[in-house]
Amino acid sequence: MKITAIETFKVRTIGRMPWLFCAIRTDEGITGYSEFGSGALHMGITGLVGDLGRRLIGQDPLPVDKLYMDMYRWTRSESGGATAMAIAGIELALWDIKGKFHDVPVYRLVGGPFREKQRVYWSHLATYRVRSAEILGKPKLRTMEDVANCAREAVDAGYTAFKTNIVFPGENPSMIGNMFAGSNDQNAPTDLVRHTVEQIGAMRQAVGPDIDICLDINYNFKTEGAINIGRALEPFDLFWMEIDNQDPESLAQLKSAQRTPICTGEQLLGLRQYQPYFRRHAMDTVKVDVQWQGFSQAKKVAELAEVYELNIAPHNYNSQLSSFQSLNLTAAVSNVRIMESDVDSSPWRDEITTQVPEIENGFMTIPDGPGWGCDLDEKAAKKYAFEG
Ligand SMILES: [Mg+2]
Repeated sequence: MKITAIETFKVRTIGRMPWLFCAIRTDEGITGYSEFGSGALHMGITGLVGDLGRRLIGQDPLPVDKLYMDMYRWTRSESGGATAMAIAGIELALWDIKGKFHDVPVYRLVGGPFREKQRVYWSHLATYRVRSAEILGKPKLRTMEDVANCAREAVDAGYTAFKTNIVFPGENPSMIGNMFAGSNDQNAPTDLVRHTVEQIGAMRQAVGPDIDICLDINYNFKTEGAINIGRALEPFDLFWMEIDNQDPESLAQLKSAQRTPICTGEQLLGLRQYQPYFRRHAMDTVKVDVQWQGFSQAKKVAELAEVYELNIAPHNYNSQLSSFQSLNLTAAVSNVRIMESDVDSSPWRDEITTQVPEIENGFMTIPDGPGWGCDLDEKAAKKYAFEG
């Protein structure tokens, strides 16, 4: 079998960034699909897939790890970041080809399944409704009670865990974000800490003590601010506070300075980047993104986490193909805490893939179709093409 073509697709979302997909075609009629990378750099990342893909035309797609290492070595001078994400896009589509060629799910090629179903949490609960309540057909977030009602809705839908961000309900609701971090030097002033306590308090009160609540503060605070927020939230018994922080020592400091468990790592790409965090035991749960670093690296990171007595939580905020890729990871490793799932999403999300995951009582069924168990619907991807 030989690779004959590599194509990328951009699909619009309710947000500013598109979802990115890669299709690799072969002379035996098998097409492998992937969802990959971050839409924030969609022109650069899809361009990188083109640069790398040209060198793979005519090659056998089945030795996936060997082709990954070839791409890694070609790009040593430009390693990490967008390059790693572009390599991931190709590697994931190659795994899909390999699964389809052998007529088995990807996790069966690598020793799974470890499980039949995967617990998921409703992610970005309330968050997407700040800007997109109307398009999602949901009530506007006018008051903190409206935010608490989102938490009730997740429980009514069968979820036993959810994750939110810091939101500001009102006539013009808003959320914490880059703008804030840029204008505020990532500080956490007292009124913001008090607001966060009010929000998490309202959500905790709405769902009672048995539902797991996560708060993602992203990269909006430096270590001192994160410590203040973590301490203030201790009474609410969070499942985790999630933070992106690029210094392992600072995270270790955050973890030891307060009692709210810490989840981090989504921005790390590959074993080399995770290792310093593991050595310092700088997190309680390891965030791992399959779409950003590829399947083999994500699996290796999970296996190294096992050595450090840590469990992983797949980062999964894209389309349903990304859910299928992430479910294949959870079925392929021994150490999973929980997995992310975006329930509020672009209304056309379920149209652009050939399958959607089965969800029951907050658990997704591990798929049993060959490859990822789900393809991109190319016609639908063109219908909803991103033209930004
Ligand atoms: Mg996060």
